[in-house]
Amino acid sequence: MAKTLELRMRVGGEWVESASGETFETVSPATGEVLAVLPRAGREDARAAIEAAGRARDLVAATPVFERAELCHAVAGVIDSRREDLARELSLEQGKPYREAMDEVAFAAELFRDAGENVKRLETGIVPSIDPGKRILTIRQPHGVVAVITPWNYPIGIPSEYLSAALAGGNSVVWKPAPTTALIAVRLTECLLDAGVPEGAINLVFGEAEVGDEIVSNPGTHAVGFTGSSAVGNAVARSAGAKPLLLELGGNGPTIILDDADLELAIDGTAFGCFSNAGQICQSSERILVQPKVHDAVLEGLVRKAESIRLGHPLEEETTMGPLNNEAVAQKTDDHIGDALERGAVVVTGGGRAEGFPTSLYYPPNVIDGVSADSLFNREETFGPVAPVIPVRDVDEALDVANACNLGLCGSVYTGSLRKAFYCSERLECGVVNVNESPAYWDGRTPFGGYSGKGSGVGRLGGMATIHSLTQLKSIVLDVEHVRG
Ligand code: NAD
Repeated sequence: MAKTLELRMRVGGEWVESASGETFETVSPATGEVLAVLPRAGREDARAAIEAAGRARDLVAATPVFERAELCHAVAGVIDSRREDLARELSLEQGKPYREAMDEVAFAAELFRDAGENVKRLETGIVPSIDPGKRILTIRQPHGVVAVITPWNYPIGIPSEYLSAALAGGNSVVWKPAPTTALIAVRLTECLLDAGVPEGAINLVFGEAEVGDEIVSNPGTHAVGFTGSSAVGNAVARSAGAKPLLLELGGNGPTIILDDADLELAIDGTAFGCFSNAGQICQSSERILVQPKVHDAVLEGLVRKAESIRLGHPLEEETTMGPLNNEAVAQKTDDHIGDALERGAVVVTGGGRAEGFPTSLYYPPNVIDGVSADSLFNREETFGPVAPVIPVRDVDEALDVANACNLGLCGSVYTGSLRKAFYCSERLECGVVNVNESPAYWDGRTPFGGYSGKGSGVGRLGGMATIHSLTQLKSIVLDVEHVRG
């Protein structure tokens, strides 16, 4: 048994308890052990964090851009130097295999490096003026205090997207991570502090909806970066009012496999999209739309891939899939499989939770065939390790079924035809379409976000897009006729 840690929140320059003295536990989905006891914040704690961020705001904004860039590189260096330790705790707390956790930690470090480089190249324009005596300049400035709220599926990677760009852009931050991955949030905050991020520039509070609502709605925060479900994203948008919002919400990634596709490529990419991180990715292959000619080969390939996965403790060398992170996501997976079977689908492999493990969160990979377009799999995000195969006649039916869902984050199409690749890419109602690649492929620099009008979010994240989202454009109109000298 690992020793239970007692950890605190970060407010201003200090690690603190909650005002109420209440605590909560973070429990390993792999073993059921309590990993850490942490303060459960309320509105009062959230307000203290907002005030601390407000006090640090001018200092961070006044830090020269090249110093902020250096700070980002220093954070990356600290993360790199602790990679194994971070990955170990990440695996134990989130449930993903150690190898995937190592990749996530490396990705987080890269995000800080990128933000440091991007902010040095943050160019803005000069606009020709209608008045020959005037010049119109534009500059980018920080928003001020950014409220950051993050989920548990990439608990180092996703926060690093916001924290890196917010700090590079000259903002101070109040961050509320998901409660089930609070321990790793403390570790990431320690990396920032040890790299020299100034007191009050990063504030960390735990808690649930009430704390999230406070940091979103309080006038002391000036912009919001939120990654999470569509339902909560809508609540966040209501609470934020007219603040600048970056909302990265749920997806239901359609993967279209046409009969002229390279099947090995399609099967590899689809299986990666369905089963990596046990399907708990907003970009997962959530439904596989297959034409009749290739249906049997795709099904057989997915079953082969699913059955080669080794479910187990995330720190064991042979493990390629760990437990799901929490009961809610496992229950949703149960419900979606049950719904599909009631509508006539059949289980080809898997079909329910695994037995004989230390917790009930171990879920083997599932391949379900004959899934109907009206099933929950096609209508909602599942977020579990399932490959639901929906047979379609042709390209147009595939697009109709894909677009029938009220989510539109990432999709993918496998085809040997450039014409069909563009036909599908231009018609899929997704913010990102990957051609001959899994929907789960993303390199961190691609502008990423939801399709307008669908429930997958607002704004774009990724590389320079994140820096743009976490800074504001200001125009300075200068009357050069009246400048002396
Ligand atoms: P969630 O929406 O339940 O929670 C996300 C965060 O919001 C958590 O920190 C939670 O405590 C907080 N929260 C809950 N209620 C709140 C409220 N009323 N106001 C403010 N904050 C509140 O999501 P989750 O279960 O943690 O994560 C899974 C979801 O995140 C999936 O839908 C997934 O697709 C989505 N996600 C999206 C992306 C993306 O980039 N688009 C990336 C990863 C995950």
